[in-house]
Amino acid sequence: MRLRMGATFGGDEVAICAGPCGVESREQLEAAARAVAAAGANVLRGGAYKPRTSPYSFQGLGEEALKLLRDAGDRHGLGVVTEVMDPRDVTKVAHYADMLQIGARNMQNFPLLREVGATQVPVLLKRGLSATVQEWLLAAEYVLLGGNENVVLCERGVRSFDVATRNLLDISVVPLLEEMTHLPVIVDPSHAMGIARLVPPIAVASIAAGAHGLLIEVHPDPANALSDGAQSLDCEQFAQLMRRLGPVAEIAGRRLPRRYRVVSGSSASNPDSAVRSSTSGVKLV
Ligand code: PEP
Ligand code: MN
Repeated sequence: MRLRMGATFGGDEVAICAGPCGVESREQLEAAARAVAAAGANVLRGGAYKPRTSPYSFQGLGEEALKLLRDAGDRHGLGVVTEVMDPRDVTKVAHYADMLQIGARNMQNFPLLREVGATQVPVLLKRGLSATVQEWLLAAEYVLLGGNENVVLCERGVRSFDVATRNLLDISVVPLLEEMTHLPVIVDPSHAMGIARLVPPIAVASIAAGAHGLLIEVHPDPANALSDGAQSLDCEQFAQLMRRLGPVAEIAGRRLPRRYRVVSGSSASNPDSAVRSSTSGVKLV
């Protein structure tokens, strides 16, 4: 499966989705996008609508954040993945994003699954907080049944008896799902661990286990993040991780994304030609 700007899921190349938990400002997103693109990521993540446990926590900037994501993605040659929580927002979010994230808390929001299933926009379906593999695959089935076959599964840890880490990462689903389904599987070590220093080793392990990609939270100033700062890598930590991942991907029979860099202007209207054509403003480096 291929996104605009060239990221693929399920092939020889892993997809590296990185960016802040939530879009907080133009400056914050710009710093994150620039850093993750320079380090070799190919998809920008960032929440515009945040599913927060407390209604008093930062809820996201909404459509303003969607615009910032699209703009930063285009300027840095990155695809854009962002969460949609409300079936009524699917058309709007799909207008700006290249991939619709269904968050863990919404894995069994069946009207939402049907709504994204009625589009052709790639869907990143996170595993529910306590979902079995069977329940997760049946949730994916809702999207597929609607005619949208562009589904990627994302393991992000499940809730366990132990609070030593934020969640309990079930890395065994990576090879297990490889046997059970043709759908690509990526891992989100950030929400699994909840602790930034534990993210890099688990990212490495995920790629070694055969994951088709990673979703990683990166913030230019984690200490002052409005959400999930404790688990966010700073820009340098992310760059270091990317350097570690190259040889691991190779051992797993894959490779890191080829890097695309915007040399001038924004993306062309045909994204597939944009990544190949040096005249359109995006250049293979
Ligand atoms: C997120 O990606 O920021 C997020 C809220 O993830 P999850 O749904 O896995 O908790
Ligand atoms: Mn988060």
